[in-house]
Amino acid sequence: MRKKIIAGNWKMYYSPAKAVAFVNEIKNKIDTDASDVVLCVPYINLQPVMETLKGTHIKVGAQNMHYEDSGAYTGEVSGAMLKDMGVKYVIIGHSERRAYFGESDVTVNQKVIKAIACGLTPIICVGEALAQREQGVTNDLVRMQTRIALKDVTATDAARAVIAYEPIWAIGTGKTASNEQAQEACAAIRQVIKELYDDNTAQAIRIQYGGSVTAANAKELFAMPDIDGGLVGGASLKPDFAVIANA
Ligand code: PEP
Repeated sequence: MRKKIIAGNWKMYYSPAKAVAFVNEIKNKIDTDASDVVLCVPYINLQPVMETLKGTHIKVGAQNMHYEDSGAYTGEVSGAMLKDMGVKYVIIGHSERRAYFGESDVTVNQKVIKAIACGLTPIICVGEALAQREQGVTNDLVRMQTRIALKDVTATDAARAVIAYEPIWAIGTGKTASNEQAQEACAAIRQVIKELYDDNTAQAIRIQYGGSVTAANAKELFAMPDIDGGLVGGASLKPDFAVIANA
């Protein structure tokens, strides 16, 4: 049975002092026996949040990385640097990065390959815009995004990765996908993993739902057969995150 994984995506919120205060508030309220719990925080918060989480099983992730180990890439941080400081997870290809920072399926694939090579677990984001859902191409799109993201990734490495199905229309809007919509897309992703690799890999990989997950809707979403937890944005900045993680 797949262990659920709940990840918070803090986006560009919280200074280090606020981050430490918030983590101190929630860390003992989160049950890490039943599920893996990760906080993906801004780069400057990685070190203080890791310090604050010492002695707990809550892991820390970044929200992006560069696909080169080092070089003249002003403002960037590499997967190697993240690994070196003890980071475990990295979100790759979030729709905000695709929309505002020119990330493409190809750069997502480059980053996924590098993250795995560095020993980081990638949380690979896929998902459709509202127009694409209305055109009936959601499953085709998430299948394609998944295929490209995992190009040249071995079955063993794919099995350890995490995919987050995040419909763009649901992110930060308060419009959550229905349990059935989320399940259908997550099942389509699992099916393409089976086609790319095999059934064992498809049954091992964890697929999250993300998009306006709240303390009120998390339990039902996470109970769907192909949904193995959630990627949580806005609600991960509130004490509600502990309720969601325990759902
Ligand atoms: C996200 O940032 O990945 C996200 C799902 O945001 P929210 O939960 O706020 O919709």
